[in-house]
Amino acid sequence: MALRDILLTLSKNEMMNTAAQKYGLRLGAQSVIAGTNLEEMIGNVKKLNAAGIEATIDHLGEFVYDEAIASRAKEDILKVIDAIHAHQLNAHISVKPSQVGLDIDIDFCYDNLREIVEYASDYGIFVNLDMEDYPRLQPTLDMLEELNKVFDNVGTVIQAYLLRSKEDIEKFADYRLRIVKGAYQESEEVAYQDKLDIDINFLELIEYHLLHGKFTSVATHDHNIINHIKRFAADHNISHEKFEFQMLYGFRSDLQKELAKEYKFCTYVPFGKDWYGYYMRRLAERPQNINLVTKQVFNK
Ligand code: FAD
Repeated sequence: MALRDILLTLSKNEMMNTAAQKYGLRLGAQSVIAGTNLEEMIGNVKKLNAAGIEATIDHLGEFVYDEAIASRAKEDILKVIDAIHAHQLNAHISVKPSQVGLDIDIDFCYDNLREIVEYASDYGIFVNLDMEDYPRLQPTLDMLEELNKVFDNVGTVIQAYLLRSKEDIEKFADYRLRIVKGAYQESEEVAYQDKLDIDINFLELIEYHLLHGKFTSVATHDHNIINHIKRFAADHNISHEKFEFQMLYGFRSDLQKELAKEYKFCTYVPFGKDWYGYYMRRLAERPQNINLVTKQVFNK
């Protein structure tokens, strides 16, 4: 089993997740998680805003199988929306449907999402439905379409590793979309396995949405992709108002600040006690991230 697969399998380990919640930020997670509570997160978002960077805030949590926990997660997200408004943060919300009940009951999940989107809509705040693994894709898109009938402040994510993404990007051209390579372990029946194939598809999807779509969030730490898109946008006279670059909190922070001087830029800001699954996926993405962790653990 490759290291990436081991880490992705571990990311779904419930016992490890429970232990992680109990002991607070560990294993180097503090460099990529913006705190475990609202106050810490607000302080970190203010710092990003001061550098001209917007934030998309993820109150961490996923794969919830208990209604009470999902309802509490929804309430916590409403508090984040209140905080964005009260502190006049330049920020919006990212939410994982499985955190608010997708694995319990789709109607229950939809009601929770609807409440979040409606609450955010009253403040003019955007809500992004993060895209999770393949079995959760179609239900997420179905809920998005339902929400979009009533609200215009909701969008989602297109994953370039999926074979079906070309069709999805055409269908959802009128939506604000974040385009990513894709973070989960998917089979060859549904996803490209080769890095080059994923990169080619990634560029094609971004270019398509830049030319035909509403608003594009180019979410990557890959400087080759970023440089390509900068050139593409200039060559096709794409307005800087129609797209932004996005990166995750704590990754390539200098590059984030540099890009923010010229382009719209948004940092994905995860915070909260439920950091384990998110963090393990980041380790799986890049072996260098493990070196970073090892250094922090042994420097203590
Ligand atoms: P990679 O393919 O990891 O790296 C490509 C190259 O970029 C590397 O070889 C290296 O040269 C350079 N590079 C990458 N990282 C670094 C670094 N830290 N320092 C220096 N060089 C580096 N996935 C989902 O499935 N669903 C989502 O909803 C989702 N939301 C996301 C939101 C944001 C804002 C971001 C940034 C990612 C999101 N992802 C999501 C994760 C995404 O799918 C990828 O798994 C993740 O971004 C890694 O791919 P990459 O494009 O950043 O580059």
